Amino acid sequence: MKLDLGPELEAFRRELGDWIEDNRIDGLEDVDERAVYLGTFEQSGPVAAAYRQWSERLGQARLICPQWPEEVGGRGLSGAHMAVLNEEFSRRRVPRVSRGMGESLVGPSIIVHGSEAQKAHFLPRIISGEDRYCQGFSEPDHGSDLAGVETSGVVDGEEIVLTGQKVWTSGAHLANMIFVLCRSDPNVPKHQGLSYVLAPIRDNGVDIRPLRQPTGRSGFSQEYLDGCRAPLLNVIGGLGNGWRVAMTTLGNERGGGATTQHLRYERELWDLVDEARKRGGTDDPLVRQDLAWAYSHVEIMRFQGLRLLSALAAKREPGPEASVNKLFWSEYQQRFGEIAMGVLGADAMLGVGPEYGLGRWQSTFVSSRAVTIFSGTSEIQRNIIGERALGLPREPG
Ligand SMILES: Cc1cc2nc3c(=O)[nH]c(=O)nc-3n(C[C@H](O)[C@H](O)[C@H](O)COP(=O)(O)OP(=O)(O)OC[C@H]3O[C@@H](n4cnc5c(N)ncnc54)[C@H](O)[C@@H]3O)c2cc1C
Repeated sequence: MKLDLGPELEAFRRELGDWIEDNRIDGLEDVDERAVYLGTFEQSGPVAAAYRQWSERLGQARLICPQWPEEVGGRGLSGAHMAVLNEEFSRRRVPRVSRGMGESLVGPSIIVHGSEAQKAHFLPRIISGEDRYCQGFSEPDHGSDLAGVETSGVVDGEEIVLTGQKVWTSGAHLANMIFVLCRSDPNVPKHQGLSYVLAPIRDNGVDIRPLRQPTGRSGFSQEYLDGCRAPLLNVIGGLGNGWRVAMTTLGNERGGGATTQHLRYERELWDLVDEARKRGGTDDPLVRQDLAWAYSHVEIMRFQGLRLLSALAAKREPGPEASVNKLFWSEYQQRFGEIAMGVLGADAMLGVGPEYGLGRWQSTFVSSRAVTIFSGTSEIQRNIIGERALGLPREPG
């Protein structure tokens, strides 16, 4: 099915496609943007050099954080334009060069809630890649119950001083900045006493301890903040306004990329089909059934994406789709990991390479266990859908 997006978006697609072809740099076809973001991308050598050159070209054309408004360095692209852009980059196999959480979570929250001074200071540093953020929301006793966070933020002159413990902080080992939800006023109802602070994470009273995951990698860490300081300029939305800012962040986290995320799953699925073919698995009716299940679910994601895209093109705000989307893709990914193990059969139990590490599909399976937990667990998404979309009675407090 092809959606008619209208002449403006089709013209944008053509113009962008021409730009990519005029500026493309060879050798980047297999770069996985997630590897760059997760720090597993090789930082030296010809591919890394080509990636840097490509990033510069995108920067000059304002194609890094292009969804941000023009006055803060973006191009002001709408959700529909961004869907077209993501599709073109993926189809033409060039990396999009994302600024990770800075681009998708912190920037949008500053744009909505930040002062002019905050926008002028923080946003250009995200676009240039100078600031790389990690998310300091969860604590050992406060994950789903985010509004209960206990890390304190005490004002000391022109600074705020953070003390407490954060955990499950993805990419902390690669970041130089952390966005922290802290309790700046313990004497008011819990949602009103929070502040959203951008704090330097290096040499600033933060002890970062990596946590080892079942994949063998340490993609996230726990941090002990002991007198971590940040200027009051770094309190986005002002003291006591942290919950509102955090809700903007979470809305972006759960709904982001819904229009084009099927592209990634589509590629992964066809790679698994190739793996099954190599192993003769496509003759097995159970494997065929599983692959057909995955195919139909990727197609559903594609149609959901198109539905959202047409809503965006018609300038309608998406509603509770963010939670439906998070629930659907995460539960799909978990089942897909199990299907991949079925395709490998007994080989799934064997270590790979001289160090008996995990192969691609084993990593897909193991890492997929986390996806129904982060960005709000499946139970929390179901609560949101039940209460806010379907209007069911609220769960007892
Ligand atoms: C891979 C990974 C990366 C992460 N990255 C980050 C990060 O970068 N930054 C960050 O701040 N956090 C991060 N997290 C943490 C994540 O946000 C929390 O794990 C998540 O919010 C759940 O919180 P919790 O682990 O404390 O579990 P809990 O909140 O204790 O939940 C335990 C169980 O109870 C259920 N539950 C809780 N409340 C309810 C309710 N009201 N109704 C029904 N069921 C409920 C949950 O669904 C879950 O099954 C990451 C987590 C993972 C796994």
